[in-house]
Amino acid sequence: MNIILLGPPGAGKGTQAKRLEAERGMIQISTGDLLRAMKKAGTPLGNQLAEVMNSGKLVSDELMAEILGARLDEPDIAKGVIFDGYPRTQAQAETLDGLLSARGTALDHVIEMAVDEEALVERITGRFTCAKCGEGYHDSFKQPATAGVCDVCGSTEFSRRPDDNAETVRTRLAVYRSETAPILPYYAAKGILSQIDGMAEIEDVTIAIEAILGETTPA
Ligand code: AMP
Repeated sequence: MNIILLGPPGAGKGTQAKRLEAERGMIQISTGDLLRAMKKAGTPLGNQLAEVMNSGKLVSDELMAEILGARLDEPDIAKGVIFDGYPRTQAQAETLDGLLSARGTALDHVIEMAVDEEALVERITGRFTCAKCGEGYHDSFKQPATAGVCDVCGSTEFSRRPDDNAETVRTRLAVYRSETAPILPYYAAKGILSQIDGMAEIEDVTIAIEAILGETTPA
């Protein structure tokens, strides 16, 4: 089963994707994570990506198609994919259909995580992750049990995304409104779109997603 979690930055797509990975054995493909790994490499392309990402704008559809196509050539996609951060434009939605059908598979569900935009700015600007294991935390909502120590791996190093500042977040939300939200009718017309309340508690959001996906045996 392949699904898209669709929603603005901070809607909780990554959090839910990780839970589905753990519970169902599906694979999260976060294009943001793929790009951040490329950025880290410090190559000329990585530096160009950093500039676009730090501004909150979108990387070109062509480059994204190449990056995603390469990722979908990995054998683990047979376990089912949770797309997180892709597609973000109508062209990407159409590209994704082509990439999946070329691999003999298709989308089963697109889940829109509806959220209140004003709350998102606080959600995003307060988030940080463990630099070692990637566990997510938040200044207001989820501090580590012992201040400065990761609950999961005990590391004392944390990091914040450079694009999680209030100004860039506003641009990212505007881009979501103008480029990404307009693709929802494309999926509604295919009869695979559902909407859930992304402002609910993390556990309740997972329950709502599970209800849409139904019973499946983890791979
Ligand atoms: P995310 O981690 O999904 O919030 O993505 C972080 C940044 O990476 C975005 O603000 C964009 O600059 C870039 N990005 C991630 N996914 C895409 C995509 N599908 N298309 C274009 N740019 C993307």
